[in-house]
Amino acid sequence: MMEEIGLYLVLILAIVAGWLLGKFGPGKNKGASELTREIFDEYFVGLNYLLNDEPDEAIDTFIKALEVNSETVETHLALGALLRRRGKVDKAIKVHQALLARPGLNQSFTDSTRIQLAIDYIAAGLLDRAERLLNEILEEDAPAKWDALLHLMTIYQTEKEWSEAIECARQLLTNQAMRRDQSLRTAGANFCCELAELTLQTGNAIDARRQARRAFDFDRWSVRASLLLARIEQRLGNPQAVIKELQRVRQLSPEFTDELLPALSQSYAEIDKLDDYEAMLRHGLSERPTAGTVLAMARLIRDRDGDEAAIEFVSGLMQAHPSLPGLAELLGMQIPRASDDVAISMQLLKAAIERLMLKQPAYRCNHCGFEAKSLYWLCPSCQKWDQIRPLEMAKEIN
Ligand SMILES: [Zn+2]
Repeated sequence: MMEEIGLYLVLILAIVAGWLLGKFGPGKNKGASELTREIFDEYFVGLNYLLNDEPDEAIDTFIKALEVNSETVETHLALGALLRRRGKVDKAIKVHQALLARPGLNQSFTDSTRIQLAIDYIAAGLLDRAERLLNEILEEDAPAKWDALLHLMTIYQTEKEWSEAIECARQLLTNQAMRRDQSLRTAGANFCCELAELTLQTGNAIDARRQARRAFDFDRWSVRASLLLARIEQRLGNPQAVIKELQRVRQLSPEFTDELLPALSQSYAEIDKLDDYEAMLRHGLSERPTAGTVLAMARLIRDRDGDEAAIEFVSGLMQAHPSLPGLAELLGMQIPRASDDVAISMQLLKAAIERLMLKQPAYRCNHCGFEAKSLYWLCPSCQKWDQIRPLEMAKEIN
């Protein structure tokens, strides 16, 4: 609210300054007292709207009163943007179209106005029009082309036109000022992964692998690209490559560890190296005893040494690191060994724990705090890429 009030005050000052310059500039020949009266009549009408908490009417009045000239173009642009932010996209479009129709507008203002108009079109859902306008700016190779590329990239992302979005990101990274922009690199890597996912759905795993690898040109630390490559290599029957990609994810983002264990277990078994898998789990338990690691180790012990050894292992670890999945696993192993009446109660307890686990969010966005039960690479709430991460602690008993 305070921010809006501040913005209005700045606008009023800008308007009055621009207006006075416009009215009293060269070529004006009305009497000074008549002009002053006109100015202040209209100014007070606008101000009155503001004071009555009718900012839309106030903006309309100021726009009507403002003569477009080189001194007031920026004020018009600011008012147009303000209208758009207040959801009056139609009016914003009219303001920006009227500005563009003015003869003699210099190139830099023409470009700024076209960019603003493109943003209006995007806000109104008129993506085709926005795309055409932005492509015109690109063809002219004007300084505004970088802004045009950024907005085009957003349009292609919305329309899921991944090849075009990748090309925009690639061109943007040729700008020295943007080369190190991590959010741009992250977006580019995700566009490559989106394209690879689509290709994988049609069954072409080799093409999908090439597209997923391209993600590393944008973001060499991309966790999503490695997870996707692991899936592709699994499809292609390359367990060694699956292990390489998943171990990379473990190093880069240990919070994903629990999700990797089923595929790691399968791949180590395929190359007959479950000993290496066990060593990895034991190291994990000493460094970062997650619920998933406890369960994976329990299953390994059960398959090799039987239920009793596994129960003993989980019971021991649960003392130090109690978790709902650990408790459910322990009950699951003990139920077949209990007497019938005790087993029924234990079954009920296990079902209650599992329901509790289902209610908890499994992922959270590091940027806006959005919580989800499944993994989204693009946060549905804040629209940032790669900010949603698994929530390990949600599984712990506090
Ligand atoms: Zn978010």
